[in-house]
Amino acid sequence: MRVCEIFESLQGEGALAGRPMLFVRLSGCNLACPWCDTPYAQEGGRDMSVGEIARLIAASRLRYVCWTGGEPLLQAGELQAVATKTADKRHCLETNATLPVPAGVFYHVTASPKSLATAPPPADAYKFVIGAQTAYDAEGVRSYAQRYGLPPDKVFLQPQCTEAEEALEGSRRLWDICVREGFSLSPRLHTLLFGNTRGI
Ligand code: SF4
Repeated sequence: MRVCEIFESLQGEGALAGRPMLFVRLSGCNLACPWCDTPYAQEGGRDMSVGEIARLIAASRLRYVCWTGGEPLLQAGELQAVATKTADKRHCLETNATLPVPAGVFYHVTASPKSLATAPPPADAYKFVIGAQTAYDAEGVRSYAQRYGLPPDKVFLQPQCTEAEEALEGSRRLWDICVREGFSLSPRLHTLLFGNTRGI
């Protein structure tokens, strides 16, 4: 598998924010979003075998594994093989919602659509990143959620940001629509606390 980085941290975003997890960030993405906060994961990385990654996961004392990227489902077959070898862990997925999610593999799936042009896939949570550069705004997400009948409590709005002040400012802007629509405000705990630091 092409791996960008593996590290233990706290989940900073979405429905599981604050939860300790082992992050497995895979390399490669099928999109090229101008606001991407992990451009270093779009290419490169190092090769690791399914067995090597499974051993690292098994050795972690943390119960939760977060598969992220890039787009981790570009390597869905091998990812599934690792998950099968480490089935005692709770495998969570962060996906850009462009590829089918294999059934029965993940404890929690967060779909983060980068465009509102297609229907959302089945997921446990829908995370929409909103900022000056993103392809949609909060009103667009509201119409999209209504059109596809997304339960409001599965919808998370998150400010596009790489620095703490941006995270705070963006969160303030999203506050009212979250209250009005019953959406959740997704924090960026790692950005608020450590800014644009990699590996946290
Ligand atoms: S889908 Fe995610 S990782 Fe890929 S380019 Fe967009 S923001 Fe970056």
